[in-house]
Amino acid sequence: MTILFTLPKPRRRSPAAKPRPRTRPRSAAGRRPPRPGKRRPGKNFFHTPAGRRTLLALILVVLVAAMAGVSWWRYNGKNKEPSQPDEVLGVPVHTDYLPEGIEGRPGIQRQVKWVVIHETGNPAAGSNAAAHNTYIHKKAQTDSLSWHYTVDESEIYHHLPDNEVAWHAGDKLTKNGGNLNGIGIEICINEDGNYDQAVDNAAKLTAYLLHYYKLGTDHIKQHGDFISKNCPEIMRNAGAFPAFVQKVQGYLDQM
Ligand SMILES: [Zn+2]
Repeated sequence: MTILFTLPKPRRRSPAAKPRPRTRPRSAAGRRPPRPGKRRPGKNFFHTPAGRRTLLALILVVLVAAMAGVSWWRYNGKNKEPSQPDEVLGVPVHTDYLPEGIEGRPGIQRQVKWVVIHETGNPAAGSNAAAHNTYIHKKAQTDSLSWHYTVDESEIYHHLPDNEVAWHAGDKLTKNGGNLNGIGIEICINEDGNYDQAVDNAAKLTAYLLHYYKLGTDHIKQHGDFISKNCPEIMRNAGAFPAFVQKVQGYLDQM
């Protein structure tokens, strides 16, 4: 931020000007008439050099306070209300937040910097998004385990507000980490589901979130970027992460 102040040049008396007489004539009543041009106390203070300095100092104080306020606001992630979509590009989103005050919902407000892609690692039949919603509502009561969204081939469950920390990345509260600053998305891999369609729906959700939080595709992360873990496993084993990012970019271009 650059702010230019133009201060008026101080007036100088021309050297040729007549010196002011030391004494001025008294009036008939014996009082001196007011000196012409002399400032009366309390008037036009900001036109004096001291006044201008005070004004400048006040402006600087206000600016510094405003900048500090904006930093605090951004740090606390309160520059944007968390998104709570009903649907994303035609895929229904069910909001069923974990209750406040349990292990899996520490209630720590943060700034969203990443969308973190996971796979559930659970191939059992029936392990779809609804089943994982039921699972996490039980598990998060007592365990430090949670994430924000689960996606299958037909729907999405939203388990936590985006602006709150969840325990999905295994990196505690590392600065700029997956837990502290990432929205965790779990993609279902159940054998009776359609994995490719689930990945496609996850790409739609990822694009929606990046668009909403004004982030680019370089803010898409894998769980394995934060700790040594092969997650999302199927995507990584197939070398398909770049294709996923491209798919997200394709949906972003439509927004
Ligand atoms: Zn994971």
